[in-house]
Amino acid sequence: MSCSIEKELVEKTIAFHGHSCPGLAIGIRAAELALQKLGHPEQSDLVAIVETDMCGVDAIQFLTGCTFGKGNLIHKDFGKMAFNFYDSRKNIGFRAVLCPDISGNAGLELRSLSRKVAIGTAHGEEQVRYEELRRSLQDRYMNAELEDMFIIMEPAFPIPKPARVLQSLQCEACGEMTMESRTRRMDGKILCQPCFEKKEQKI
Ligand SMILES: [Zn+2]
Ligand SMILES: [Zn+2]
Repeated sequence: MSCSIEKELVEKTIAFHGHSCPGLAIGIRAAELALQKLGHPEQSDLVAIVETDMCGVDAIQFLTGCTFGKGNLIHKDFGKMAFNFYDSRKNIGFRAVLCPDISGNAGLELRSLSRKVAIGTAHGEEQVRYEELRRSLQDRYMNAELEDMFIIMEPAFPIPKPARVLQSLQCEACGEMTMESRTRRMDGKILCQPCFEKKEQKI
């Protein structure tokens, strides 16, 4: 079945992200899956751990209400199209990984063209093909059955604990207040991470 999220909400998600693209479509479908399996944000305490920082994460923020600022969106820089969702109230969760077969030959072709487009060596026809492939992949993602789109498994991480409010300490080099758990110590001085790194380079 094609995406069950109302058209208007999809449009708003595209506006939030700034453009429409295959990556965003993946995020929209992942968010749809999360809402379907765990319920709407009002009835659950949704938490997401995303293993990518690509376009799709914007759809997850917009549609599930898991945001970076609230601390219920966590990024693991693994470069994988994989999304872990939890309801911390019910203590349940799952991991959805984009099925490698879903993108098919169009995905392979797009990947090699993307490289050319990125370094500016794609000629006119290739540019047109690139746009065409992006549109067709986006349509494929938006119309696929969710079970064909994602492989679902146990979450890769335990449910994250709610963010604790920690004390701030003053960095003894730059004087800026820094969350205690992010401070470092060198020569008996409390330092923020950038100051610590600067000093460490000099050693
Ligand atoms: Zn995008
Ligand atoms: Zn500092």
